[in-house]
Amino acid sequence: MAFGFDPAIPDPLRSALDQWGTAALTAQLLWVRSLGRAAIAASASARLDALTRFARVHSPFYRAAWKHLPEGPLQLGLLPVVTKRTLMAAFDDWCTDRSVSRDRIAEFLAERTQIGERFRGRYIVWTSSGSTGEPGVFVQDGGALATYDALVAAQFAGPGFAECEWQHVAAQGGRAALIAADSDHFASIVSWRRLASGKPWLDMKSFAVTQPVPDIVRELNTYQPAFVSSYPTVLALLAEEQAAGRLAIRPAALWSGGEGLSPAARREIERVFGCPLQNEYGASECLTIAQACAAGWLHVNADWVILEPVDRHYRPTPPGTLSHTVLLTNLANTVQPIIRYDLGDSVRVKVGACACGSPLPAIQVEGRSDDVVALRAPDGTVVHLVPLALTTVVEDAAAVHRFQIVQTAPDRLCLRLMDTDRARAGATATGALRVYLDLHALSNVEIVLESGEPQPERHGGKLRQVVAM
Ligand SMILES: [Zn+2]
Repeated sequence: MAFGFDPAIPDPLRSALDQWGTAALTAQLLWVRSLGRAAIAASASARLDALTRFARVHSPFYRAAWKHLPEGPLQLGLLPVVTKRTLMAAFDDWCTDRSVSRDRIAEFLAERTQIGERFRGRYIVWTSSGSTGEPGVFVQDGGALATYDALVAAQFAGPGFAECEWQHVAAQGGRAALIAADSDHFASIVSWRRLASGKPWLDMKSFAVTQPVPDIVRELNTYQPAFVSSYPTVLALLAEEQAAGRLAIRPAALWSGGEGLSPAARREIERVFGCPLQNEYGASECLTIAQACAAGWLHVNADWVILEPVDRHYRPTPPGTLSHTVLLTNLANTVQPIIRYDLGDSVRVKVGACACGSPLPAIQVEGRSDDVVALRAPDGTVVHLVPLALTTVVEDAAAVHRFQIVQTAPDRLCLRLMDTDRARAGATATGALRVYLDLHALSNVEIVLESGEPQPERHGGKLRQVVAM
């Protein structure tokens, strides 16, 4: 099911082959979807069968986990649930290519100049910390990457961009800007650099989300992108800057992901920039899970992704009710099969068809919402800090993954670490936050290392990492 790999193929040719693969996949995907729900389900079912067969032969981890199950086609509901912790602990056995090992990948990831490059000339790799607090390392094969590209290409062909004024894109040289955490091998920056290196005729530039907002605004004003991609909280802040006249760009389309986006926030961002905003629900485990529609729902790419909303005992949750977590099966990636993986998000499946007419199942995702923090500077001005920037600063400096930053006053932030991390990493983490706040002219803001641990939300295991007043 994946594209064959021949190490003799030079990079430019592989890039051309990848694009051919993506074009073919996009056409196939649009065709299957045009046939409706039954065709989509049949397509997913055939892919699941192929993936489980492949995993059973090539992944010692799954072979052992499924040894009690009968030979032949496997029923998804009978397969044991896996977690990030289990898979990371069994990393080498989980992978279906024996040349992929945790040690070799760690060596590759230690080199940050290699962000977006291929591991052993073959695979794309990214890391995640995630709010579950367990670091993850995810390896993607050529088939997975071509599928993610096709899923994105299909969105451009869809109704979300029907209003897009493509002549603006051409007029601005097709320049595309990504504002994201770029200090490590994170999925968004890795994917961006991969696309940029494979398509030298595209003008793509990334901007560090950890910069002060005025710096990002100045750089965007100079670059004048036709397309901007970032987290919803960043786009909301940029919309404020645009409305205030400090930012002056004319994008033809906006893209967001990584956080929840309320319909009201989306309308406001679209109004200010005068162009469509496409919001996507993805994860390091599966880059593109679902896309938002005009009716405010997320439509699951059910031909390539299986999502099972479940309660705390992994029993199916009926449509209309909020699940405890959701089990993810990624049908596109064979090198690290993700099959019935506890993703930790709470979702609600829509009852009945969506008003937008999509044949894909519609969901809402809860609990992916961190706050923008508004802090008061010494001169009385308010400085906004986006959550992804704050968490990246702490993670990078202190190698902690489960923590919480809580604003308790206009000029005070509290940091909560796990008991096991506090003595080791407390001073480093608060020191990094200090440097970051000083960079934003917030030297008056107090940082307090609390004695309590992070407090998770009621639903699922997800933690709100940044909580504003
Ligand atoms: Zn819809």
